[in-house]
Amino acid sequence: MTHEKLDVLKKYFGYDTFRPQQAEIIDTVMANKDCLVLMPTGGGKSVCFQIPAILKPGLTVVISPLIALMKDQVEALRGNGVNAAFLNSSLSSSEQDQILWQAKLGELKLLYIAPERLFSGSTFEFLKDWNVSLFAIDESHCISSWGHDFRPEYRQLNTLKQRFPDVPVIALTATADRVTRRDILKQLHIEHAETFISSFDRPNLSLSVLPGRKRLQQIQSFINKHENQAGIIYCLSRKGTETVAASLQSAGFKAEYYHAGLAADKRSKVQEKFLKDDIQIIVATIAFGMGIDKSNVRWVIHYNLPSNVESFYQEIGRAGRDGSAADTVLFYSYMDIITRQDMINNSDQSVEQKELLHAKLNRMKQYAEADICRRRILLSYFNEAVEKDCGNCDVCQNPRTRFDATIIAQKALSGIARTDQKVAMGMLIDILRGSRNRNILQFGYDKLPTFGAGHDLRGEEWSEYIGQLLNSGVMDIAYDEAHTFKLNPASWQVLRGERKVDLVKFIPLSERKAREE
Ligand code: ADP
Ligand code: ZN
Repeated sequence: MTHEKLDVLKKYFGYDTFRPQQAEIIDTVMANKDCLVLMPTGGGKSVCFQIPAILKPGLTVVISPLIALMKDQVEALRGNGVNAAFLNSSLSSSEQDQILWQAKLGELKLLYIAPERLFSGSTFEFLKDWNVSLFAIDESHCISSWGHDFRPEYRQLNTLKQRFPDVPVIALTATADRVTRRDILKQLHIEHAETFISSFDRPNLSLSVLPGRKRLQQIQSFINKHENQAGIIYCLSRKGTETVAASLQSAGFKAEYYHAGLAADKRSKVQEKFLKDDIQIIVATIAFGMGIDKSNVRWVIHYNLPSNVESFYQEIGRAGRDGSAADTVLFYSYMDIITRQDMINNSDQSVEQKELLHAKLNRMKQYAEADICRRRILLSYFNEAVEKDCGNCDVCQNPRTRFDATIIAQKALSGIARTDQKVAMGMLIDILRGSRNRNILQFGYDKLPTFGAGHDLRGEEWSEYIGQLLNSGVMDIAYDEAHTFKLNPASWQVLRGERKVDLVKFIPLSERKAREE
């Protein structure tokens, strides 16, 4: 049997060796045991069910949420001589009937189907006549409301085991923390499944976080250092993708935007051009990338903070799939957190769900604000311990130092106190730096003793330090429109000299070391 699966790998997929865990997973499935496979994007999950599908008699039913993805996978399989098909709403009803016939006649090895299609009409009833030998559930985290991409239609899969107790199930996902993993097993009723967890470490990806100021300018200088290298910029909003793409275009870059508001043909055209290297840069919402198999993406930039570590990891994982060095950059400012928090609070989720989303956001914040090796933080999220610092993140390259910043804190806090806690970031920095602009003069802030008290620090340093003060809890921010700063009991302790404040030394961008080329 060992030979059989290796022969299939060679014959149908053209590879000589298995990647770590693939062979064990295939053996488990061939022994008709249930299993859960956790492998990062690009790790090679597909062959884990495709090879058993080819080797087993009968049909493998593959549940997959994305119609576009199905088509690609099926075409690739057919191109390699495997009888595969997909069933979804993009097909005419006569085409669908024909596929149902083929399944019934036992002519298919793999049938890809979206869960909503599986449970509509009589399809689920047909299954018992089809000699199903394996269920493969791709993106299986979609079944769990603990995951980051819960899809209610996945829930119906909880009846699979009851209806087909003898058919093994292989659940696959690239993103699931421990709670989500347990929930997947529970929902699918495969509690005894063998779980395979591959390392999530992608050492070829450099990790860095840059201060979220002048993002466009920083992006341009970044791209200039990555001449002609393909990259993706993720933005929070559709509008954002359009603005960023337009600004890059006018700077002479081959960039286009991509979001779910575009017509389907336009979307596939942009995607196609990117795959063929006709455009260098895609500026996209998270709608872009699921299932994109472009191996030479050399960088990924997050213009805005992602909502959780799983999504972030999946998105940066689209870079460097060929194993060569690739760079990832996250822009971050305290306002990104506020925006995300507001989005959660204003959503129509249940109270428990909101709590979960806040907790997930908080883990993302820990990554962004790390003053230890960022890869340690990232991998610890997936419960992976790391033996040593990675050497390929901005913290490793620019070790952080802490210093006594009590005086800096006192200046900022007294600026807040003397303006009756009515100022937000921009105005506070102007007061500290002594900028005599119209707003300042209008409110008479130029008469304050604090005015100009912090002229020795640059605006970017102030913004960094004030962000750190917020995080260390010695001041607060109001959840109002203006996001004004507020004092709390800790602030007064600092102002009275009863409490010291340590901050992490700011390193100007021009002095930060990046990955060695
Ligand atoms: P995933 O679904 O985990 O994101 P895929 O199954 O799409 O990943 O595989 C990612 C890439 O790795 C594909 O191009 C696939 O052909 C390739 N691949 C999978 N297994 C192997 C292997 N054993 N040797 C070499 N390449 C492989
Ligand atoms: Zn590191």
